[in-house]
Amino acid sequence: MEATVKARAAKSATKGRVKTKRVTAKTPRVPDDEFRLSTQVRPSHYAVHLGPDLEAGTFRGEVTIDLAVARPQAAIELHAADLTIEGAELIIGGSARAATPVPHPKRETVALRFAAPVPKGEASLRIRFSGPLQKHLRGLYGAKSNGRSYAFTQLEAADARRFFPCFDEPSFKARFTFAVTTEDRNAVISNNPVSHVEDHRDGRKTVHFATTPQLSTYLCLLAVGELDASEERLVGRTPIRVWHVPGKGHLTAFALEAAVESLTRLEKYFGLPYPYQKLDLIAVPDFEAGAMENAGAVTFRETLLLVDPQTITLAEKKRGAEVVAHELAHMWYGDLVTMAWWDDLWLNEAFATWMAFRVVDDWKPEWRMWNNFAHHRAAALHLDALANTHPIYTEVRNPAQATENFDAITYEKGASVVRMIENYLGPNAFRAGVRKYIRRHREGNARAADLWRALEEASGQKVARVARGWIEQPGFPLLLAKRADRDGHAVLKLSQARYFTNPKAEATGQRWPLPVVVKTPASKQPARQLIANARGEISLGPSRRVSWLYANANEGGFYHVLHDDRTLAALRAALFDALTPVERLGLVAHQWAAVRGGHASIESFLDLAGVFGAETDFDVLDGLSGSLRFVESQLLDAIDGRPAFRHWLEATYERAWRDLGWDAARQESDDVRMRRASLLRLLGDLAEAPAIAQAVPSRFAAYLGDRHSIEPNLADGLVSIAARDGDAMRYEQFLIAARGAQTPQERRRFQYALADFRDLGAVKRTLTLTLTDEVPTQDVGIMLVRLFGNRAAREETWAFLKDRWDEVSKRLPPMMVSRVIEATSSLQTPAYKRDVAAFFRAHPVPTAKRSLRQALERFDLNEELRRRVSKSLHAWLAQHS
Ligand SMILES: [Zn+2]
Repeated sequence: MEATVKARAAKSATKGRVKTKRVTAKTPRVPDDEFRLSTQVRPSHYAVHLGPDLEAGTFRGEVTIDLAVARPQAAIELHAADLTIEGAELIIGGSARAATPVPHPKRETVALRFAAPVPKGEASLRIRFSGPLQKHLRGLYGAKSNGRSYAFTQLEAADARRFFPCFDEPSFKARFTFAVTTEDRNAVISNNPVSHVEDHRDGRKTVHFATTPQLSTYLCLLAVGELDASEERLVGRTPIRVWHVPGKGHLTAFALEAAVESLTRLEKYFGLPYPYQKLDLIAVPDFEAGAMENAGAVTFRETLLLVDPQTITLAEKKRGAEVVAHELAHMWYGDLVTMAWWDDLWLNEAFATWMAFRVVDDWKPEWRMWNNFAHHRAAALHLDALANTHPIYTEVRNPAQATENFDAITYEKGASVVRMIENYLGPNAFRAGVRKYIRRHREGNARAADLWRALEEASGQKVARVARGWIEQPGFPLLLAKRADRDGHAVLKLSQARYFTNPKAEATGQRWPLPVVVKTPASKQPARQLIANARGEISLGPSRRVSWLYANANEGGFYHVLHDDRTLAALRAALFDALTPVERLGLVAHQWAAVRGGHASIESFLDLAGVFGAETDFDVLDGLSGSLRFVESQLLDAIDGRPAFRHWLEATYERAWRDLGWDAARQESDDVRMRRASLLRLLGDLAEAPAIAQAVPSRFAAYLGDRHSIEPNLADGLVSIAARDGDAMRYEQFLIAARGAQTPQERRRFQYALADFRDLGAVKRTLTLTLTDEVPTQDVGIMLVRLFGNRAAREETWAFLKDRWDEVSKRLPPMMVSRVIEATSSLQTPAYKRDVAAFFRAHPVPTAKRSLRQALERFDLNEELRRRVSKSLHAWLAQHS
């Protein structure tokens, strides 16, 4: 992130040199990596008046901040970054005192110094400021769509300081009154409804907003530009609208419905009405994250909010609904009650992630959202198995460290732990605790301990002990489950130890309070036990009735299981009767983890995968293809095993594909449609089956002519395969299709697939395109990650990245730069690892320190796996193709 308070403020500081010096001596010294403000000065209200110039890409503003000063102050320090302070004064009892601004770029603050100390009591600061609209999607930033210019804000974690001078930490909650002067044609949206509009009769107006309730700065929102609103839907007294760039009004119905359904359920869950006066959902044409929970004015990527029900895939629809529910859960959990500091970010994100799946599952049970969650959980387990993981609760000293924590550990591992605790306490006691917590801390801040207290009061159980075991230590356990039979009774002997992907990792001696749930055919209720020590035992009843067992029923626990060989064989034999889809998905993931961690052979995994030729559930097929894709991309080059691997895949899944074919029958269920799409990925993409490749050109030509010519769920797979085998002429077709796309999803589909071309000329063109407006800033990182995943493009991509880093990094917002760095491990060789390490040593990225360590660790782990399994993989493939 660029962090400079402009030179003009520094110059004006030299006027009162003598006085300034005297004050300097009294300014407390704070270590440079500890960027916290003093709590002696607290804001209570901000009045912000802003005048953006959308065409010029600049803005001017004035803010009046009402303060409470606890002790006399020689200077008042507050956040300001990339802003020019044009003037500042302090008003006490009706008289004004001039302030001298002294910027501290490294701390992203400005200290306002005064000739005499500011006395204890109330005061107001008035600051005039100006600045540039930011260019990479943080702070108050500029965006373009169809030749129109816009300004939007994205302020989490610490970018409100690029919008106006403020106390930019979550515990400085205050009320905000916004006003914006702009051209008459522009819409202006903020957190609260418009209170009145002043007409200046010169083509401009000033839009004034009603004062907000208590908010943290990161939850403020301003959107300015030509935006249209949908019709209004009401939930109780809350009006809900969807805002969008002109011409997309016909795509808003689904998001409105999702918002109505979510809000209704959330009000019921929390037992407290929606806390803000209105709810606007804003589709932003260029946006870094998926969405942002600004109070009363939530921002989204267009792909999540603007939907054509005729051509959208079920996966896109589920994701849209899930994100809407996630953001609306934040209105209570995050906005109304906010974490006191960024170390407790997980309190916000884990809860909202869990709640979203709960809400959508209740709305659309047929979508089986918890199966979908299993994929997210798998990603978290994968990340958490590295030595370079972090505990869910992580110490945070500065904004760069806060930014690093927006990852699968905070979101998905956090949500898994919330789910485990709900399971442990029961849903009613859990909800009662959550309600207590929200009521007790509304419009304030809270810490994890406050949540544990409320849950303990509501349930009478010792929650903190169990929860802290998961929140405060990194990693998770591998549960060894070994069946024994004594006197005709089956018992399960259990032991736990931390799981690492690295087989040579040293034992840590860590233990988790582990709620183990074992499923057997013997009884309807699974056997439950909390295993707190290294070892434990569960009795399962008469041996003859326990023909199989599974030691993570419903995949409710955040751990991997390694069953003994006898149990594994029994599960393989009874697979489709014994296990639900989410458990089959779990079994595949556990076995793959066992291979990676050195606890099982690669043959054991491939043997198991072979049994899934008869699988009918798309979630299971998708989970399986994740591991198989890794085998394909990382393990086959060294042994020249690709032809044999493809042959085996084809032999395993071809029949299922032949039974379904390309075209959907009338009245076909979503499950069948999704299975067809999964098989297309497995066979068409991964196995590159000739029968599919031969059909693609005509199918693709038909799709270009008519977007309804293909079952919607196949569109992604079709477009991707067409790109993979495409030449320069097809590349032109892709560009035209992306530019002329009718929906955000269609644009995304064609544009992202530009990264799938294997033709070297096309790869080079795509790389160059990422530096132009053809690829919106929000998508640059995603396309680079996809290029790293393309075997024919990865080396070219790395060369390009090194060569053009200055330009590329300017188009990569902080979260994206982490994802790109993580993707470099696809380069495989130790030589590339050294190159990546050296490059980022020379070009450090403070917000991605951990991502870099993770990428370097993955280089080593993948290399170790190649060395360990190549020989047996080669032999297995020879035998099975
Ligand atoms: Zn969130």
